[in-house]
Amino acid sequence: MPAVSESPQLVVVANRLPVRRTPDDDGNLRWTTSPGGLVSALTPALAESGRGCWVGWDGSTDDDEPVDDSPGLPAEVDGIKLVDIPISADELDDHYDGMSNGTLWPLYHDKIGSVEFHRHWYDGYRRINRRFAEATAEAADDGAIVWIHDYQLQLVPGMLREIRPDLTIGFFLHIPFPPRELFQQLPWRKGLSSGILGSDLIGFQTPQAIANFHGVVNHLGLTTSVDDNVLKFQGRMIRTNAYPIGIDVDRYQDAALSHPIMEASRDLRARLGNPQTVLLGVDRLDYTKGIDVRLRAFRELLADGELHPSQVTMVQVAQPSRDKVDAYVDVRNRVERLVSEINGDYGRVGFPVVHYIHQSQSFTELMALYGTADVMLVTPFADGMNLVAKEYVASRHDESGVLVLSEFAGAAHQLSDAIMVNPYDVDGLKSAIAEAVKMPAEEQRRRLKSLREVVASTDVNQWLANFRRDILQIHRAKDGG
Ligand code: UDP
Repeated sequence: MPAVSESPQLVVVANRLPVRRTPDDDGNLRWTTSPGGLVSALTPALAESGRGCWVGWDGSTDDDEPVDDSPGLPAEVDGIKLVDIPISADELDDHYDGMSNGTLWPLYHDKIGSVEFHRHWYDGYRRINRRFAEATAEAADDGAIVWIHDYQLQLVPGMLREIRPDLTIGFFLHIPFPPRELFQQLPWRKGLSSGILGSDLIGFQTPQAIANFHGVVNHLGLTTSVDDNVLKFQGRMIRTNAYPIGIDVDRYQDAALSHPIMEASRDLRARLGNPQTVLLGVDRLDYTKGIDVRLRAFRELLADGELHPSQVTMVQVAQPSRDKVDAYVDVRNRVERLVSEINGDYGRVGFPVVHYIHQSQSFTELMALYGTADVMLVTPFADGMNLVAKEYVASRHDESGVLVLSEFAGAAHQLSDAIMVNPYDVDGLKSAIAEAVKMPAEEQRRRLKSLREVVASTDVNQWLANFRRDILQIHRAKDGG
C-alpha cells in the first residue's frame, strides 16, 4: 500500500543518480547525495511527495576495478529512493560518448564541434532510453508525476507514455534547443522529437529554445502550435515553457560572507602576487566554452600594451571533461598551447600571467576564486544557461567586480547588466575586457546590485517551484480535479 500523501508521487529521471561515494570521519566509504543546487532543491520536493524516487545511473560500469570494502548502492540515500540503471562500458560508448556527446551535444550547440552521425550510436541510445523508461514505469505509482531531464534521455517521455499513459510526464532540457536548419540534419529527427512530445509539459531554458522547438516539430508535420506555449500532438495538448535554471543563492551568499572563505580569498590574492586585477575563467574544458578565444583576446591585450603583466593576472580553471571524445582532446591541446605561449612570452620566473588549473575545483576552492576575481569572464559560444556567471554574482557581497558575459549564454536573457560580448569577435572581447578592468567602482556597484537582484529572485527554488506549479496544474486537470 503506498503511504498516504497529499501530493502525487514525484519520480525524477536523470542520466546520473544524485549520489557519490565519500569517506566518512573514520575513512569508511559511504554513499551521500551529491552537492549542488539541483539535488538540494529537489531533495525536499521528493521527500514531500512521500514515495519520491530518482531513476539514474550510478556512474560505474562492468569495466571498473572493484573498490575494496566499498558498500553497494543502497536503496535510499538521505530520504531519496534510488533506482539504479546498469550501463555497460560498451553501451556507454554508444549512448553517452557517442550519441549524447558526439552527436547531440555539438549539434545542439550550433555545431561548434564536429557532429558525427552513427546508426549504432543511435541504436545504443535507444536501448538505454528504453531501459530508463521501463524502470521508471516499474517504479512509478498510479498517476505519479515523472520529471525527465536532459538530452541523454529525449526518447524516454514517448517510450514511457506508451507503457504508462496514466502518468503526468514533464521534460526539461538543460542545454539549448537548436534552430530547425541544424536539427533537421539528424537522421533520427522524427524519432527524437516524437520522444520529447511524449511529455505533457516541456521546459526549456529560454524563449528562443521554445521557438526553435515549435519550428522543428511543426515543420516535421508532427504538431501544430496552438499558441507560443501550446502544441497539439496526436489530439493531445502539450505545454512548453521557459524555466531558466538558477543556483542555490543562499549557499553562495553565506559562504562568501564566511570568515574562512574571505581569508582564503585574501590568501589566494597574495599567492598571485597581489596584482591590481585578477581575471577569472571557470569552465568545463569544453569547446563550447570559448576558452581559447578568451585567451587569444587576453594575449593580444598584453601584446598591444593595453594590459600589463605586472598588473594583471588571469586564472583559468578548466575542469576535465569527456576526455574520451576526440574534440575534447583537441580543445585541451589548443588551450594548453595558448597558455604556455602566453606565459612564455609575458611571464616572469615565479609570476606566470595565466594560472591554468586542469583539475576539478571544490566548492570552497571556487568560492575563494570568486572572492578574489575582479573580472569574471564567461564567454561561451553557446550555453544552455551557465551557472558560473550566477555563482560569481551571488558571491560578490560587497558589490565590487565585473561580469563579462557572452550574449549566447542562456544567462544573458536575464543578466542584462553584465558587459555583453559576442565571443566570436576577438576585438569586441578585447574591448570588453579592457572596459571591465577599468570600470569605476560606482558603476561596478550599480551593475552588480541589479545583477544580484535578478540572480536572487530567480534562484533554483524558484525554478523548481515554477515547474512544479505547472506540472501539478496539468496533473490536476488530467485527474479531472
Ligand atoms: N564547477 C565545479 N568545479 C570546477 C568547475 C566547475 O564544481 O572545477 C561547477 C560550477 O560551480 C558550476 C558547474 O560546475 O556549478 C558548471 O555549470 P555551468 O552551468 O557553468 O556549465 P556546465 O558545466 O553545466 O556546462
